[in-house]
Amino acid sequence: MQNVAILGATGSIGKSTLGVLELYPDKFRLYAVTAHSRVKELAEIAKRFNVSLAVTSDPSKLEALKEALAAIGCNARAEAGAEAVARLAASPEVDIVVGAIVGAAGIVSTFRAAEAGKKLLLANKESVVCGGKLLMDTVKRCGATLMPVDSEHNAIFQCLVGETERSREKARIILTASGGPFRTRKDLSDVTIEEATHHPNWSMGRKITVDSATLMNKGLEVIEARWLFDFPPERIAVVVHTQSIIHAMVEYEDGVVIAQMGAPDMKNTIAYSLAYPDRFTAGVTPLKFSQIKTLTFEDPDLNRFPQLGYAYEALKMGGSASIVLNAANEIGVEAFLEGRIGFTDIAVLCRSMMYGFQPPAPTTLEEILETDRQARELARAWADGYSEHRRDKN
Ligand code: NDP
Ligand code: MG
Repeated sequence: MQNVAILGATGSIGKSTLGVLELYPDKFRLYAVTAHSRVKELAEIAKRFNVSLAVTSDPSKLEALKEALAAIGCNARAEAGAEAVARLAASPEVDIVVGAIVGAAGIVSTFRAAEAGKKLLLANKESVVCGGKLLMDTVKRCGATLMPVDSEHNAIFQCLVGETERSREKARIILTASGGPFRTRKDLSDVTIEEATHHPNWSMGRKITVDSATLMNKGLEVIEARWLFDFPPERIAVVVHTQSIIHAMVEYEDGVVIAQMGAPDMKNTIAYSLAYPDRFTAGVTPLKFSQIKTLTFEDPDLNRFPQLGYAYEALKMGGSASIVLNAANEIGVEAFLEGRIGFTDIAVLCRSMMYGFQPPAPTTLEEILETDRQARELARAWADGYSEHRRDKN
């Protein structure tokens, strides 16, 4: 029996993880869950899974969490604050940490789980983008096991199993992208919040859904693949594959391409990460090939979706460019979802931040966090100025 902690249990990945854990009560015990603001939902999960500890990362929500637990007769202990989440990630009670927090808010707990040598099922791609080599070195040094939950990276992991170092060194990663809801739309300047928060194939949290619409998500995934698999950016390509049946491919020296396929359901990648090196059912309906009929592939359009190109540029620039790009994007998406800037302004913000703010490469977690903080502050000022300008113009 292994003890599991889900960081971000109320989110899309969190709920998919609960769906898998529910199938294996004899293998996994859900020990603790965290959320930020949805404390009522958190309490319900705590009760349903009889967890020992429920944590809200928002300190102002502690009383509300305690009340919600008491109201439904749940005995789980309640804690609050980002530090409590970080402590949980390193807790000796926990064997498996599921990193399903959204955004750079997940960085510290990812590092804490790695430092404590945990088995880490990592969905929080922003912590790989910002943590980069430092995170991967920490995983290695501390004997942690990092299983990528992001579907493309989970697929790459599967396509690389059993290959030699030499074979990997000559291989090329091909990430597939659905292309998002605006693949064929010419003018993106008037995209609404409603339109950008509906993905054609996947049901996900709001931030990653907007990232999928701008293709920033694929850009973050290029950076994520660079560090997770230690592939240089020249050997990481992106192809648009609208059906989302192939999640990623690896092309080897002999021209053979290994592709990983499955229904677009994150329960598949979570189940694989829990079971590896074994496999067990994820409770997902298997593909019906007679109904698929066609698989299509095309190049992404970097003119209409420049943020994908910025990710490659950030890797080339090195330093802290990926951290700055990630922070600018998070603030941009937030401002877009608040109706303060337009859809295409997110890319404008990312670009001006990447070229306008170039701190040196971080050497510690603290430096990563400080660069992220400074980048956010600058990006926020930019977004505020921009939205004022838009208001004046209208
Ligand atoms: P959601 O928005 O659905 O869920 C986010 C979770 O994080 C919620 O539990 C939320 O709590 C919590 N949270 C929000 N803000 C904070 C904060 N400041 N500190 C601590 N916790 C916080 O996101 P997703 O599940 O879609 O995505 C989670 C991560 O997984 C992201 O990094 C995403 O890129 C990645 N991912 C997601 C995929 C998907 O299919 N959804 C696919 C591949 C990767 P509350 O509910 O209380 O707000
Ligand atoms: Mg993905």
